[in-house]
Amino acid sequence: MKNIYFTVGPSELYPTVPKHIANALKSGICSISHRGNSFQELYLSTTSQLRMLLNIPAAHTIFFVSSGTESMERIIQNTVIKDSFHFVNGSFSKRFYETAKELGKNPQLVEVPWGESFDFGKEKIPEKAELICFTHNETSTGVMIPLDEIYKIKKKNPKKLIALDIVSSAPYADVDYSLVDMTFFSVQKGFGIPSGLGVIIVSPQGLEKSMTMDKKGISTGSFHSFKELQKYAIKNQTPETPNVLDIHLLGKVAEDMNKIGIKKIRSDIEEKSNMIEEFIKASEYTYLAKSKSYRSETIHVVKVPEGSKVLMDKLKKKGVIVSSGYKDLKETHVRIANFPSHTKKNVKKLLNLLVIK
Ligand SMILES: *Cc1c(COP(=O)(O)O)cnc(C)c1O
Repeated sequence: MKNIYFTVGPSELYPTVPKHIANALKSGICSISHRGNSFQELYLSTTSQLRMLLNIPAAHTIFFVSSGTESMERIIQNTVIKDSFHFVNGSFSKRFYETAKELGKNPQLVEVPWGESFDFGKEKIPEKAELICFTHNETSTGVMIPLDEIYKIKKKNPKKLIALDIVSSAPYADVDYSLVDMTFFSVQKGFGIPSGLGVIIVSPQGLEKSMTMDKKGISTGSFHSFKELQKYAIKNQTPETPNVLDIHLLGKVAEDMNKIGIKKIRSDIEEKSNMIEEFIKASEYTYLAKSKSYRSETIHVVKVPEGSKVLMDKLKKKGVIVSSGYKDLKETHVRIANFPSHTKKNVKKLLNLLVIK
């Protein structure tokens, strides 16, 4: 029996992915030159489908990199001369902050305990901050930031750039790209595609900052500097030999999702999220994120009375895989993903198995 993966990433493959891989192998996509016409067509097809799906403005550029983690590094390197500011509420937002430190920048942060969110109205953004970094959906804690709070901060600080990690909320996250400068995700979570591809969506303002830094002689990296990425993106190419199969699969999955309609994809996620929440509320499990106002729809982090291992072993015997809690929560919590790949039928199956007897 094939396992069902409710893991937070990599996760369950999108249902059409095996068919698209089989077709890709038959058509020879994995052997075409990344400097040829067929690749350029494939690239354009993927970016067009993605623009349609996520409503990305024509003026914004789409860059392909290797992962979500790489995106963090590229964004810091390309848009921060010295000072960034980070909203930290778990491991992934902390990673973004640490990346800035490791690159020799001068990051500052506001940090709240795991499972909590921020008091956005109160937070003072340092005057000198060039970039403000948010993790829309903190995968370690199951806390989701309301996008409106981010837009408010951008409107108050129009000269500052905004970076937004939507790695575990895409394509559910309905982002207004006119108010965010660098948005990024990888494909092995909400898109249900094999790992190995990251996507950064960059505003004209973000791109300009990188070009200004480059002109000033400040290093913005090498082959994956925004300058190099842009030089090739306008030709529908990438600087290096990319993960062609994944770029193809992303286009195909985005096309499939466009046929269903992004509204339906998003409302299905909300419906399944409500199913999970109703179940948890009536059970002995408890959410790490106490308030519904900031609880994630796509990553449910819950405390397990009997400990995570007993439950995970029990589920595994039935062919259902969930993620353990992150770091300090490993023994006590589990994390359940709710992505477009997860059918209502499978969610019901999971919830039936979660009943404590
Ligand atoms: C998984 C994840 C990342 C890291 O992405 P990779 O593609 O594994 O490098 C970053 N941010 C968040 C919120 C994530 O869930």
